[in-house]
Amino acid sequence: MGSRLLLWDIDHTLIDSGGVGRLVYGEAFAKVTGHPLDKMPELPGRTEPVIFREALRINGVEEREGVYQQFAAEQAQGYEDHLDDLRREGRALPGAAEALRALAEHADVVQSVLTGNTRRSAAIKLRAFDLDKWVDFEIGAYGTDDDARANLVGIARQRAKKAHVQDYEPGQTILIGDTINDVAAALGGGARIIAVATGKETAKDLAAAGADTVLADLADTSAVVAAVLGVPRPEQSKQRLDLEAARARAAGGGVPSSPVRLGRLKLTADARARYRPRRENRPVRH
Ligand SMILES: [Mg+2]
Repeated sequence: MGSRLLLWDIDHTLIDSGGVGRLVYGEAFAKVTGHPLDKMPELPGRTEPVIFREALRINGVEEREGVYQQFAAEQAQGYEDHLDDLRREGRALPGAAEALRALAEHADVVQSVLTGNTRRSAAIKLRAFDLDKWVDFEIGAYGTDDDARANLVGIARQRAKKAHVQDYEPGQTILIGDTINDVAAALGGGARIIAVATGKETAKDLAAAGADTVLADLADTSAVVAAVLGVPRPEQSKQRLDLEAARARAAGGGVPSSPVRLGRLKLTADARARYRPRRENRPVRH
């Protein structure tokens, strides 16, 4: 089975619920507390129980035993009830389906989710956009597993180990997410992180937070796959190309002398396969 465990964040990484998430949230909150959701907490990158406790607090509602479990059930039901709205108002983000499909073809990659959502809501959200078939929800980690997102990494790793009878070391566990909280979870939980700037946070902020790789979005499937497989990043590729150029020069070949311009360098087929930058989707160097 797979030697890499790839854990996807959902909201603003794979999908945008187009406001339906907030609608469902408000309805479920009102139903279980009897109180309207006048104020909405910040959502990105946080786990559901944490968001819910804050929602109670800022709306002046007292917490009672079992209320979160009731809310989570209502919320998941709300997504089912609003599935048509979700499909109409929301969308799979560009390249999400292609990236999931391409990575599913790699026998050494197993894919699941690491998300603040409950498992049921996570499954419905991906099903809404036909993205669920590439993901093994059994080995994922969810907002209900732990308040701290970083702890979800170890939980997913344990589940994957049990399912696949294999250890997934930090270098073989990869998160893809859109928030600084995703970056922090990966760094804290011992995983590589590929950040995508499709949420609120900028590529610069994600890189500054410590993301190994930052992509503008998932649109360049080969860039996503290369980042997951850990093939050389551009600066490493450049060193490799410099070496190839030096070898070619030593052999009397016609490769341009320095400075090496990557864009104009005649790449070998192998190098070309590994390094295919696109202007709008080039990994940020840091
Ligand atoms: Mg997200």
